[in-house]
Amino acid sequence: MLNIVIFGAPGSGKGTQSERILEKYGVNHISTGDVLRAEIKAETELGKTAKGFIDQGQLIPDSLMIDILAAKLDSFVGSKGVIFDGFPRTIAQADALKAMLNERGQDVTVMLELDVPEDELMTRLIKRGIESGRTDDNEETIKKRLKVYHEQTSPLKEWYKNDGKHCYINGLGDLDRIFADIVAAIESKK
Ligand code: AMP
Repeated sequence: MLNIVIFGAPGSGKGTQSERILEKYGVNHISTGDVLRAEIKAETELGKTAKGFIDQGQLIPDSLMIDILAAKLDSFVGSKGVIFDGFPRTIAQADALKAMLNERGQDVTVMLELDVPEDELMTRLIKRGIESGRTDDNEETIKKRLKVYHEQTSPLKEWYKNDGKHCYINGLGDLDRIFADIVAAIESKK
């Protein structure tokens, strides 16, 4: 099983590179942001709760997020592995993911850190907001999300280094070069 955590700040290219990874390796893809946006669109109770946090640039509480992830993971039958995109975002989520995979006799294969400078993230997210209409891609909310990333999510780099799974990827530049670096990192940990 190939379990890949694709990691990085908002706008670092996780979604774009995930598409290429799943095409090459035939794994399933979980984007927790996409799951939440689908719930909002369907106007479910979960969606209503999630919207409040997302519009404020804050994280959804860990316990809720971990339950959502577990349900999604259980929905995959005969899977070759999973790309985790946007999860984990906190230490508690990383602990929970490890426990969930261990219970299934698995582990995270590799954690890919896509590194992109802050000014470039800002430019990309503002552009995405204009093109896609994503309500949290506006300057004020982006600043909050980047602050949350630095405070709550970026400590996971050390967590995965300690777990022997971390691989650094320069996320700035040509998409094909970035993907080639990703493939090399996956192959080195497989
Ligand atoms: P994303 O599309 O990954 O940038 O996620 C958009 C928003 O969804 C985030 O700013 C959070 O409010 C929420 N979200 C997505 N994934 C998580 C997660 N693993 N933990 C908590 N909140 C999340």
